[in-house]
Amino acid sequence: MEIFKTDKIYETDGHCKNFEAEVLWCEENSDGMFDIILNRTAFFPEGGGQSSDEGTLDGQDVLFLRTENNETTIVHTVKNPIPVGKLVYGEINMKERFSRMQNHTAEHICSGIIYSLYGFNNIGFHMGQDEITMDFDGLFTQEQINNIEFLANEAVYKNVPVKFSFCKPNEADNISYRSKKKIETTLRLVEIEGIDVCACCAPHVSRTGEIGVIKILGFQKYKGGTRISLLAGERAFNELNKHFNNVKKITNSLSSNMNDICERFEQMQKELSEVKIAKTAAKQQYYSLLASTYQDNCNDNILFFDENATVEEMRFFVNLLMAKTTKICAFFSGLDGNFKFIAGSTGVDMTKISQALRTELHASCGGKTQMIQGSVCTAASEIYNFFENVLF
Ligand SMILES: [Zn+2]
Repeated sequence: MEIFKTDKIYETDGHCKNFEAEVLWCEENSDGMFDIILNRTAFFPEGGGQSSDEGTLDGQDVLFLRTENNETTIVHTVKNPIPVGKLVYGEINMKERFSRMQNHTAEHICSGIIYSLYGFNNIGFHMGQDEITMDFDGLFTQEQINNIEFLANEAVYKNVPVKFSFCKPNEADNISYRSKKKIETTLRLVEIEGIDVCACCAPHVSRTGEIGVIKILGFQKYKGGTRISLLAGERAFNELNKHFNNVKKITNSLSSNMNDICERFEQMQKELSEVKIAKTAAKQQYYSLLASTYQDNCNDNILFFDENATVEEMRFFVNLLMAKTTKICAFFSGLDGNFKFIAGSTGVDMTKISQALRTELHASCGGKTQMIQGSVCTAASEIYNFFENVLF
């Protein structure tokens, strides 16, 4: 193929959303679609952590974009052929592109601040569906993260220009810039005035004010360094708005106000734990009274059913009953078809009962000689029948 050089409009004008261009080459590819090369394009192919643009050429969806000839040629894939020599009208899905520019520029701002403050390098960048992530070769404290976020937003308020320049790698020797990889061809430097200079191929906003807001969502240790997740621009606003509405909903349902909601929540947690303690005490009292109604030295297995008892309650009651008899004491909690149980005995080897329950009732259970625990998916009547007729 003849080497075509595509003029990349997005390299100097990230806001160009429609353009006219001439078709230089059109050929059917192995998938039955058509690869188109234009003399110029505003379509950004994937690169620098940013996905490729979506949009249309003469109304046809651009399905894929790729680069060839060491990134000098951009190939657009469409469904139907377009004649060579034709002037086509290209249109970029600017909503998506602008959002990516906001987030990508925010990444440069944060990485520049982090490099100048702490000397850590950005070694990974991914623009995901829910958040964008940046990986650094160093560790941060919460205070440092807060500071980075504060300074990043300050850079937004200052509305400084984002400039682009091109130079050969050897011309860049005396320029200080960040770069993830060694670049052999022409360097495109993205400079955010006073904040960062970075080699990058992707479109960015023209001034930092266009970003609106930068929100760091979290950070965690990752491969010996740190992964920071963030959102910027409209995506950050939507995310923050979602959380705002959730907090508002909770606040309204508690008849509280948003400023006091954390204190209200802590107070509720305290009240809840007090209620739980009181409930446990009441339940223990109830089971103690209930246990006292069983005769001492009773000569029968004791089977007890309750719809909704906790494992702790079941164990508490079975232990009380085990003091009454050397036979089997079993507590089944749940409804027909789905019981949890705890069973114990001071006189019977419960591991044998466990085995019989597995064989006869397909229970899933296990434990020790004195006590077993498990679940069984059968009716209460089957359980009674097992203890009265099958077992002995
Ligand atoms: Zn970049």
